[in-house]
Amino acid sequence: MSRSLLLQNCRVYDPLHHIDGEIMDIPIRDGKIVDSVPESASRIDLSGLTVMAGGVDIHTHILGSKLNTARAMCPEDHRADPVAATKKTRSGVGFTLPSSFVTGYRYSTMGYTTVTEPAVPPVKALDCWEELHDLTNVDIAMLPMLGNNMITFDFVQQEDLPGLAAYVSWILHSTGGLGVKVVNPGGTYAWAHGKNVRELDTEIPDWRITPRMILTSLCQAVEMLGLPHPLHFHPNNLGKVGNVETTIAQLESLKHIRGHNGRKHIVHLAHISFDALGMVEGGRPEWKDVHSGGLQLAEYANANDHFTVDLGQITFGPATTMTGDGPFQFSLYELTHSKWANMTVDVELPGGAGIVPYTYDPKSPTNAVQWAVSMEYALNIRDIWRCALSTDHPNAGPFTKYPLVLSWLMSKRQRDRWLTEMHPSVGQRSTVAESDREWSLYEVAIATRAAPAVILGLQATKGHLGVGADADIAVYDLRPDDIQRDPDRIVRAFSSAHLTVLGGRVVVKRGEVASTPHGRVWSSSPQVEESLHRRVVGEVRERFSRWYAHSFDNYAVPVRYRAAFETPMATPSVAES
Ligand SMILES: [Zn+2]
Repeated sequence: MSRSLLLQNCRVYDPLHHIDGEIMDIPIRDGKIVDSVPESASRIDLSGLTVMAGGVDIHTHILGSKLNTARAMCPEDHRADPVAATKKTRSGVGFTLPSSFVTGYRYSTMGYTTVTEPAVPPVKALDCWEELHDLTNVDIAMLPMLGNNMITFDFVQQEDLPGLAAYVSWILHSTGGLGVKVVNPGGTYAWAHGKNVRELDTEIPDWRITPRMILTSLCQAVEMLGLPHPLHFHPNNLGKVGNVETTIAQLESLKHIRGHNGRKHIVHLAHISFDALGMVEGGRPEWKDVHSGGLQLAEYANANDHFTVDLGQITFGPATTMTGDGPFQFSLYELTHSKWANMTVDVELPGGAGIVPYTYDPKSPTNAVQWAVSMEYALNIRDIWRCALSTDHPNAGPFTKYPLVLSWLMSKRQRDRWLTEMHPSVGQRSTVAESDREWSLYEVAIATRAAPAVILGLQATKGHLGVGADADIAVYDLRPDDIQRDPDRIVRAFSSAHLTVLGGRVVVKRGEVASTPHGRVWSSSPQVEESLHRRVVGEVRERFSRWYAHSFDNYAVPVRYRAAFETPMATPSVAES
């Protein structure tokens, strides 16, 4: 069988190569994009269609223990969207908490080929690896959480940065993670005492360290190790009215840190719709006084280039909120009096998640302003390369709403239609209605594939269509003229790819899943000098025996779960001094 394929007459949007709508052919051989293919190659004519690299999602909760707890606590979610088996696919459920196979099918149907689970408690990584065996059609990356972990705290308190870096390295090797996530640094640990931590310089319970120290130390450790993805950050005070000030103060606290190999962006701020809540003038930090802080954060971003973001766009309708930020989830439960799960993760508490189902209502004055936060940011940021699309699935809505979000960003007409249905607070407390900006297809290709691939450090093979890239390709039945004629065409086109190719294999044809290969799992393989590694492993083993319920020797995810899919990325070596 020929392993060569030629996609012909593609209208290509490939921002990493500055290609903006040129008509070209794309030759594919053995899963890669190549210079040319033999005459005998199979051919597919894509005249008139839009072609981009496969979509890359930088922040989506699609694996792990809190997701499975949410699935168990929300049977009504499954009943709302049963999915029948086909000759090619298995049955399952969809809605806000799709089952594993359905998650892969639905991403693939939207033209996405790489997804990132951003909140893996290291002790639960095995759960993720078991589950991802049932998640086909996409490549995967995972980010272990390290911001509320006693061993992290100990290295931070001792100001032992090489030790912390070596510990991060050991965690990444043990879990198969790509990078490091910090959620509410110190605050989730404080939740074990029924508390939270609100200020950057407040000491956390039991320790002589502060959120600022945890955040800056982990950021430095990531840069020392030269990990492909900078620190992935969920700030303190998430979801609190007025928190845009805390978020900016935290970003400011990292500004002095030098990026590995001169890289400018040293932190990725996740789901800004929850991090950039402003306050009306003279107001109090209460929901009745909420104002969009999206413009304030965009102005800060336009003046400071050390960070990137994803949107976490509110999409209206049902969602299931779930974060490793236990105290935030409790405060949301107090607002909603809906169902609530509080998930401490074993006694070592490397994460303490919460789960609360939530429905965003466009008629609600606060939900309408929350919608405006990330929208306002996206319409005012100058550099789209630092802005990735997300809904923080399923927190602000399921990932299947991405096409709707793109229609809001690409069409003022579409925004105006929705604004007329929203509570008038959105006009009084944000500038979204005044903005004429409309994202182009080129900008969409940046925010949905090129930028997230670069931010994740996967740009050698992902997010573009150059020679040497993985043949991950999305084809949409969308012409530039369609966009203004009918914004709902945008939704239809991005919901149902004409063709999706993963590693050279056609996985979706005309919106239907055509095959179900398993993707790869991208991990980091940080290098630490032998003497430093030996010292730190000895210290970690000793702390496990004192503090942890889990035994050291039983912690790492066994190779048998990983060997078939894991693709480690090499990084430079770190020494003691
Ligand atoms: Zn998240």
